[in-house]
Amino acid sequence: MKLLNDNKGYITGILIMVMIIPIMFLLITIIEQENHYINKTVENIQDNKLTIVTNDFQREIPLLTRKSMNNLTLSVIINRKPLVNATEELITDINYKLKEKEVFYEKNMGCIISCNVTDIKTSKTNPFQLEVSYKIDSKFREDSNISQGKKIYVELVDDEYPVYDPFAILKADTALSNDIVYYNQITQLENSGVYDNAISGCVIKPCPYTNYEEHGNNNTTILNCINNHYYHESHDGLCIFCRLENKTSCLDYGIETFVIPTGIVEKAPVSIDHVLLNDTEGQYMGQVHILDNNTILYLDNGHKNKYGL
Ligand SMILES: [Zn+2]
Ligand SMILES: [Zn+2]
Repeated sequence: MKLLNDNKGYITGILIMVMIIPIMFLLITIIEQENHYINKTVENIQDNKLTIVTNDFQREIPLLTRKSMNNLTLSVIINRKPLVNATEELITDINYKLKEKEVFYEKNMGCIISCNVTDIKTSKTNPFQLEVSYKIDSKFREDSNISQGKKIYVELVDDEYPVYDPFAILKADTALSNDIVYYNQITQLENSGVYDNAISGCVIKPCPYTNYEEHGNNNTTILNCINNHYYHESHDGLCIFCRLENKTSCLDYGIETFVIPTGIVEKAPVSIDHVLLNDTEGQYMGQVHILDNNTILYLDNGHKNKYGL
């Protein structure tokens, strides 16, 4: 009987063991899944944080670009010396500023970022915009990382960091105050004397009358444009980089502004900057166009039509 009892106990023990083993396996599986889920969640949070920090960093690039443009263009008009390779100098300056930002991001966000501008050109469709290409790699100390190459468009216009136009300063004998004042005869063509003390602007501001023919609608429009020294898109005009390098012609989509003469005659060199300041026989004559007692322009038919004058 004792033997039987013992046997029963033994069998019961085995039965219990047989039932417990699958339960334990089940528990282990559940715990592992839970752990896996927690790890995944941590990974997702890290990834999201990295994406946010990386995007924040990239949002700094347009302002840094405008600050660099402001520096670079200001230095050229102050030193009156053209740059040899304007885009290269701009890229170097922006990348220097990006390195400072990288240090800040690592210190404050624990995020290791490496970002470099690889190329800059004027936009093919909007000369008041720069096309900036860059590469960025970012990671938190050991884990997840983001790596991407991108192209963005940066507006050249910033009230706080204006872009200066060195074209007239480099091409002609000029004085620089708020505007540019021209001294001596700036062309060899007849009646060039009408440009003694002529003025043009030195900050690049796109004209708000984007339908250019509207300039001719009334005198208020064209006078407002002239008095503010606005700039216009132009296929023959020079882009900002060619202006910085003191070139005479430019293959890019460029810009132009009026140079306001001081004397009235019937015909004189055309009052458009890239025509008037073209020192390799690109200058030509235009007819007088009187806007009011103090303001006149000399325009050829092409520019007259363009501005509806
Ligand atoms: Zn205008
Ligand atoms: Zn150009």
